[in-house]
Amino acid sequence: MADQLIRATAAESGIRAVGVITTRLTQEARQRHNLSYVATAALGRTLSSGLLLASSMKREGSRVNIRIKGNGPLGGLLVDAGLDGTARGYVDNPSVELSPNAKGKLDVGGAIGREGYLYVVRDVGYGYPYSSTVELVSGEIGDDVAHYLVTSEQTPSALAVGVFIEAGTVRASGGLLVQVLPKAASDESLVQLLESRMEALAGFTPLLQAGKTLPEILEQLLGDLGLVILPEVQMLQFHCGCSMSRVLGALKMLGEAELQDMIEKDDGAEATCHFCGEVYNASSDELAALIEDLRAESV
Ligand code: ZN
Repeated sequence: MADQLIRATAAESGIRAVGVITTRLTQEARQRHNLSYVATAALGRTLSSGLLLASSMKREGSRVNIRIKGNGPLGGLLVDAGLDGTARGYVDNPSVELSPNAKGKLDVGGAIGREGYLYVVRDVGYGYPYSSTVELVSGEIGDDVAHYLVTSEQTPSALAVGVFIEAGTVRASGGLLVQVLPKAASDESLVQLLESRMEALAGFTPLLQAGKTLPEILEQLLGDLGLVILPEVQMLQFHCGCSMSRVLGALKMLGEAELQDMIEKDDGAEATCHFCGEVYNASSDELAALIEDLRAESV
């Protein structure tokens, strides 16, 4: 099934649900960054979380950045996801591998670390981005993002994210966000209803792993609550906006002396995009052209 996002409402529109399938984009992230199993799970869960958070934004071009910094061996992790359905991200130490945890699952909490911070930046494309920080709850990512939504955005929320990898390939990755809508957030019965469903929502990943579609999963988990699945299906993809011209722009900012040094010592420059792993090679001629530009601009 293609990577996609679908939206639904329940409880007479008092509850909002969003589901994402991110299997292909998580596999692409795994390949681009040579991620270990546990790093794939950590990044895949965060990619799904970012797309779920971005889905509630209204203004075209809105994006969410999630940065997680824990005390585990994976170091830090950053995801950038947009309302437009694009996402990209990386982890600091992509090759770290850990044995499965006591439940036999990939030990994301151990890799991220159970102490540290989750930073979320919501950028609507103008003015100051809204940013907020919470302490990690478990490092398992789903709990941490849900904790952020409840404490920082004061939205009663349940979130399930999961990644299933087999024989080196991502077989299933996705997530489900269920929230009491702000206008109904003071409705205690809805909040209790949501809380009573938290355990059931943990069934999301097994259902995804079993090959169920998003509408089937939503129907199974929330079907008895007056579920209405919206007909629009949004496609999702791993996408990075980097380009050779952006790389040259960044190199130019290093200044003439540094550029001259690169020409003499390395006969060019190699730059790797953190977000997507793309490697860009600038030749000595291209660097010389940047020096020409700098000289022309300083006259
Ligand atoms: Zn890139």
